[in-house]
Amino acid sequence: MKDKECIFCKIAAGEIPSATLYEDEDFRVILDLGPASKGHALILPKEHYRNLYDIDEETAAKAMKLARKMVKKMTDVLGCDGYNIVQNNEPCAGQTVFHFHMHLIPRYEGDHVGLSWPAGELTEEVKTEILEKMK
Ligand code: 5GP
Ligand code: ZN
Repeated sequence: MKDKECIFCKIAAGEIPSATLYEDEDFRVILDLGPASKGHALILPKEHYRNLYDIDEETAAKAMKLARKMVKKMTDVLGCDGYNIVQNNEPCAGQTVFHFHMHLIPRYEGDHVGLSWPAGELTEEVKTEILEKMK
């Protein structure tokens, strides 16, 4: 399924030009227009899925395999020191484009990419509650 209103559907299909790093029958990998660091890229499936809640298992697995391949190649190309993979689901989690995508964010020693959070505390109460509900 494609979504006529979706910008990432159009980019993935090649209807809107993009800086494409890789393409196959299922995915296009492009440079992000607002990069967190040099080489920040996005993996876009060619089919439309809103996010991880919507994507099928097989395509999700393929996306992760592709992420691994891209990270290894781009580490060589960019000479970066590490990588973050970020994948946002729904507005409260920072999703702004509602077509599944994975961010591949190269990291450089001493960069100021802000992907950290203040560590909370896992209380016994919360731990027990969640473990119970997961049964
Ligand atoms: P989200 O916040 O949904 O996880 O990420 C959306 C990402 O898409 C952002 O990092 C933003 O910079 C990028 N982006 C939004 N529109 C475009 C576009 O038209 N072209 C490209 N290459 N990136 C885009
Ligand atoms: Zn789409």
